[in-house]
Amino acid sequence: MAITRTLSIIKPDATRRNLTGRVTSMLEEAGLRVVASKRIRLTQEQAEAFYDVHRERPFFRDLVAFMTSGPVVVQVLEGEDAVALNRRVMGATDPAKAEPGTIRRELAESIEANSVHGSDSDENAAREIAFFFRPEEIVG
Ligand code: ATP
Ligand code: MG
Repeated sequence: MAITRTLSIIKPDATRRNLTGRVTSMLEEAGLRVVASKRIRLTQEQAEAFYDVHRERPFFRDLVAFMTSGPVVVQVLEGEDAVALNRRVMGATDPAKAEPGTIRRELAESIEANSVHGSDSDENAAREIAFFFRPEEIVG
């Protein structure tokens, strides 16, 4: 397996509860390295563009409202097969269905306020990383 990159977002439910460090520790303990990080407040336009694939889903408006409700921390993670590794550490979308020890099982509040985002393919990771970071902001 190659060393690859993925985009992680620590969502507003987690920043609000002061869990930025705890989430980051769980990512690092799983073997992922934070090679870029910034705390930002998403605009409505950014949240809508980022979640454009979900535009027709019934939860889209609530999701955009949630993602703009407080600060997020966007991070580029690097590691062995980073997309899959990160998604294993995150756990299932619904925290009630996530494996014990995963970020969502241990920390998430609900299927919407589920503490973290992670890219779902190498192709989407590249697109999502470019959405938030210029190449010179990523230091591996
Ligand atoms: P993410 O893309 O945030 O890493 P995911 O890939 O596990 O999560 P997606 O299906 O891409 O899940 O959904 C994106 C986000 O939309 C979820 O993380 C969650 O915050 C929200 N979401 C998904 N399904 C629902 C639902 N049924 N009700 C409310 N919110 C939902
Ligand atoms: Mg997704």
